[in-house]
Amino acid sequence: MLTPEEIKENIRLSCQVKVKKDIEIWLPEELFNVKKYKTVVESIKDVTHDIKEVKFKLLEPSEVNFKAGQYMQIIIPPYEKIKEPTQRAYSISSLPSEKNSFELLIRLVPGGIATTYVHNYLKEGDTMEVIGPFGEFYLRDTEADVIGVAGGSGMAPLKSIILDMYEKGITNRNVWYFFGARSLRDLYYVDMFRELEKKWPNFHFVPALSEPLPEDNWEGETGFITDVLDKYIKEKMDQNTPKEGYLCGSPGMINACVNVMTKNGISEDKIYYDKFA
Ligand SMILES: Cc1cc2nc3c(=O)[nH]c(=O)nc-3n(C[C@H](O)[C@H](O)[C@H](O)COP(=O)(O)OP(=O)(O)OC[C@H]3O[C@@H](n4cnc5c(N)ncnc54)[C@H](O)[C@@H]3O)c2cc1C
Repeated sequence: MLTPEEIKENIRLSCQVKVKKDIEIWLPEELFNVKKYKTVVESIKDVTHDIKEVKFKLLEPSEVNFKAGQYMQIIIPPYEKIKEPTQRAYSISSLPSEKNSFELLIRLVPGGIATTYVHNYLKEGDTMEVIGPFGEFYLRDTEADVIGVAGGSGMAPLKSIILDMYEKGITNRNVWYFFGARSLRDLYYVDMFRELEKKWPNFHFVPALSEPLPEDNWEGETGFITDVLDKYIKEKMDQNTPKEGYLCGSPGMINACVNVMTKNGISEDKIYYDKFA
C-alpha cells in the first residue's frame, strides 16, 4: 500500500496514481486544483549567464490559482534526438495575483533534456503545455520569523513567496533572505530586493559570494552560504523569536543548511524545502 507521501511523489513525477479500489487514500485538497494548461511563451530573458526567466501567458484555461512557492511541470515536446515528450518541474517565480500568466527561472544543465530545449530551442510565441500547480513548499500561516535560503534558480519560489508576503501586507514578520552565488555574474534581482528592503524594514536581503572575482569589487558577504547563515542566526537575529526555514536549491546546499539551522535550535519540522533534484 502506498503512503500519502508516495502517492504525492507519484503524482509529482507522472501526474498519475495507481491505487486499488479498496484502498482508502487521503489526498491534499490542492491536488484537485491541478490542471493541464496550454500556454504561449510571452518573453524569454537572460537573468544570468545560465538562467533564463521565461514568462508564459495562459491560453486555455486562461487563469491559474496557485500558492506562492508551488511549481509546474512543463512538457517538453520531442526535439532532435529526444523522441518522447519529457516532463520537468519548475517553481513559479511570479506572484499568485497575476492569474493570466506565470514566470519560471530555468537554469541550463549542460546536456539536460528540458533545459537545453528551453535555452536553445524555445522561442517567444511558441506554445507549450504545462501541468500544475504542485507542491507543499509555501509559507506557513504563523508569526514566526522567516529564514529563506536559495542558490541559483532556487531563487524562483523564494521570490514568489517574499513578493507575495509584501503584496498581502504580511510585513509584520521578520524575513531574512540569504542568496548564495559563486561570483557576481551568478547574482540577479539584487536591485529589486534592495528596493524591497527600503520599503519593508523587517525584510533583510543577504547575498553572499563564495568565489568573488577581483573585478567584482564585492564588498558584501563572502564564503559559503551555510557559514553566512550560521553567523547571522547567531549574531544578527533575535534569539527569542520562533523561526521557520524555507530552503530551495541543490540537495547538497539544502542538507547543509538544514544542519546549520537545527544546530541553531530550529526544529526540523519547521524547516521546509524543495530539492531541485
Ligand atoms: C520541485 C522541483 C522544482 C524545481 N524547480 C526548478 C526551477 O525553478 N528551476 C530550475 O532550473 N530547475 C528546477 N528544478 C529542476 C528541474 O526539474 C530539472 O531537474 C532540471 O532543470 C534538469 O532538467 P533537464 O531535463 O535539463 O536535465 P536531465 O536531462 O534530467 O538531466 C541531465 C543530466 O544532468 C543531471 N542533472 C539534473 N539536474 C541537475 C541539476 N539541477 N544540476 C546538476 N546536474 C543535474 C542529471 O543527473 C543528468 O545526468 C526543480 C526540480 C524539482 C523537483
